[in-house]
Amino acid sequence: MSVFDSSNFDDHESVHLFSDPESGLKAVIAVHSTARGPAAGGTRMWHYQTDQDAIDDALNLSRAMSYKNAMADIPFGGGKGVIIHPDGKINRRQLFEAYGRAIDSLGGIYCTAEDVGVSTSDMTHVSRHTKFVGGLDQGKAASGDPSPVTAEGVFRGLHVAVKNRLGVDSLSGLKVAVQGLGHVGYSLCEKLAAAGAKLWVADINQAAVKKAEHDLGATIVDPADIHAQRADIFAPCALGGAINSESIEEIKASIVGGAANNQLDTSDMGHALMRREILYCPDYVINGGGIINVAAELSGKYDPRWVDQKLDGLADTLAQIFVISNNDNRPTNEIADQMAQARINAAD
Ligand code: NAD
Repeated sequence: MSVFDSSNFDDHESVHLFSDPESGLKAVIAVHSTARGPAAGGTRMWHYQTDQDAIDDALNLSRAMSYKNAMADIPFGGGKGVIIHPDGKINRRQLFEAYGRAIDSLGGIYCTAEDVGVSTSDMTHVSRHTKFVGGLDQGKAASGDPSPVTAEGVFRGLHVAVKNRLGVDSLSGLKVAVQGLGHVGYSLCEKLAAAGAKLWVADINQAAVKKAEHDLGATIVDPADIHAQRADIFAPCALGGAINSESIEEIKASIVGGAANNQLDTSDMGHALMRREILYCPDYVINGGGIINVAAELSGKYDPRWVDQKLDGLADTLAQIFVISNNDNRPTNEIADQMAQARINAAD
């Protein structure tokens, strides 16, 4: 099948491949849509089995960014950067400076920030060569690591979900199974623990789970079993595909809501969750906090009140999706896709 016909391609406006042998940079920048503004989305650095896997990941993630930015109601289209993690030792400064030059060569159709495997100091290197970058910890409008704001958006979204599904106003006493204790997952756990929730956690990084056990009273679970806990909420906060044909039948939580991008391995998993009476919080709606924070920085004037209002807006949008899903008896992911596409079409 030609790349143009693949479901991942989905009419991307452009896809760019960059290589810089000196630094070891091999990167993909996918620009899905600029209908609502320049394409914005983080950069992921990860080990991929094949170059095609990296391209597919960039395409999937950039389409989700178009939807995410539309649902967050920010003036950006969707794009994503993927850096193929070089083998062996890397010079991060050299690598991310080369990446900054790559972004700059696109002339502003794509703006970046952090995603999995990328830190604020990496973004500082990027910023030496382009102004189309956010999530910086220095500068006039610097907004820093977006992860805590992503976690705050998920936390507010989970309140909407428990109200809808369990009829309660608080997370106190609820059991939450969190998959992945990275930048967002750990921050979410801190908020959940402070709100009185009971935590079950898994990560392939032992130091992270030990810290959660020690500091937050969390119970450590094998990563292979975290989705199957008898919890009220399953919160995927690692990589994509947590809801797949194998895990779906084992999920016992009544709500799925977390930070990870592309949680549904295939979109029919949304139907499967609905059939099992599990309320799914569409990932690109509930995890839009980080990009809202980056958008505030990219506007040139960081305003925390604007960010706070936008986070409340995300929670309201989620509530609206739940109501429509219930009234129409259709999965929440379908409702969200339809709303996002309508917002993009309206801007075209
Ligand atoms: P991160 O790299 O800091 O954390 C990911 C964590 O998942 C790591 O601790 C890793 O060890 C763990 N992990 C990986 N595979 C696992 C497995 N099989 N089981 C359990 N744990 C596993 O990344 P992050 O920034 O916290 O992002 C987490 C997710 O949220 C990603 O999908 C990311 O795309 C998404 N997201 C992040 C942001 C943000 O602001 N950082 C915004 C929106 C969406």
